[in-house]
Amino acid sequence: MDCIFCQIIAGDIPSYKVYEDDHVYAFLDISQVTEGHTLVVPKQHVKNLYDLDEKTATHVFRAVPPIANALKRAFAPIGLNLINNTERPHQSVDHFHVHLLPRYEQDDLGIRFTNNQASHEQEDYLAILEKIKENL
Ligand code: AMP
Ligand code: ZN
Repeated sequence: MDCIFCQIIAGDIPSYKVYEDDHVYAFLDISQVTEGHTLVVPKQHVKNLYDLDEKTATHVFRAVPPIANALKRAFAPIGLNLINNTERPHQSVDHFHVHLLPRYEQDDLGIRFTNNQASHEQEDYLAILEKIKENL
């Protein structure tokens, strides 16, 4: 078993445990990109979002709001980002995990949402929609 998160869940590698139930394990991200940065993972080894089955997804996401609210109460952030990296956008551990990142006025996390609305016509949205629906 060379998955680092499976080893954390098994207790073979130490972690700062935030929460645990039968299906889910949450712990402090060692990097603490922002204060309170927490990872929520299924106990079952699943590589990434593409492989997440309905039950496992339910278990993981059911645990997220209570932890988010604990972070809110603990650190009074200005808000919070829920992030998952699947494959190229920086997936460094191949065991599905969501990052809970409390946000602060002066933090280092550079996430930028550019508003591209003006450069899209109705036909562009419809073409995008069609591509997705063909593959659902
Ligand atoms: P990602 O880049 O989305 O795959 O996230 C993996 C995260 O796991 C990174 O933010 C790492 O800091 C974190 N990480 C790696 N090893 C450990 C560890 N032993 N304990 C806690 N967090 C870890
Ligand atoms: Zn694993």
